[in-house]
Amino acid sequence: MLKSQREIDLMRVAASTVSEVLDELVAMVAPGVTTWDLDAAAEAACRVRGVTPAFKGLYGFPACLCVAVNEEVVHGIPSKRKVLREGDIIGLDFGVVYKGWYGDHARTVHVGVVSPAAERLVRVARESLEAAAAACVPGARLCEIGRIVEGHCTAHDYTVVRDFVGHGIGRKLHEDPQVPNYYDPNDRQMLKAGMVICIEPMVNAGAPDVRMLADDWTAVTADGALSAHFEHTIAVTEGGPVVLSQSGWGAKAGAALA
Ligand code: MG
Repeated sequence: MLKSQREIDLMRVAASTVSEVLDELVAMVAPGVTTWDLDAAAEAACRVRGVTPAFKGLYGFPACLCVAVNEEVVHGIPSKRKVLREGDIIGLDFGVVYKGWYGDHARTVHVGVVSPAAERLVRVARESLEAAAAACVPGARLCEIGRIVEGHCTAHDYTVVRDFVGHGIGRKLHEDPQVPNYYDPNDRQMLKAGMVICIEPMVNAGAPDVRMLADDWTAVTADGALSAHFEHTIAVTEGGPVVLSQSGWGAKAGAALA
């Protein structure tokens, strides 16, 4: 479960590559673009960079990219029929494998100009992740993450989804421990240097409940309210938290570590 510095360096290449691919996808997001177009671009970007898309085929998921438009929470399947419209928000969740190591990262972005309510939801969801990431120091309790995420969101009258949680990551996409976005005071686990975890708040404007669409993948809010999702891959180190899923280490550092 604990990773060496070299393993963390390899994971940083993976996670940074995810961020760099998401930079490209975010630049494409506009009214008229389909979620299929975004998936195709993600797959092509992996080919260019010599990394493997992490999600395609995992548990049977049929695409490289998970998308979530408006009331969709997570795990939407890209489709030629899903055309982005002005005022939508879209969550882009993507992962890659580099030399056997996984990186995982998600952002929710605006399609054109969005309502003030949508803008606020997206901002608060992002802030909840940033605040929780900053608390990932050795010796902190794991439940502190959920306390911070849930506290920030409920302070803005939002709710956090409980049906899906963050996770450890490494040679598999999903490793122990589970990382809930809600506070569980009975969770006695501690953060240790060498742990690498994914924190991924899913924040709803309405109730926390979700339901599955008939495709058995797409989770949507049960009440149809908007939802926003952000995720980072974070290493807990003696020097403090290191957000691995930031652009700048992918293509460049990968060559150095080869
Ligand atoms: Mg994840």
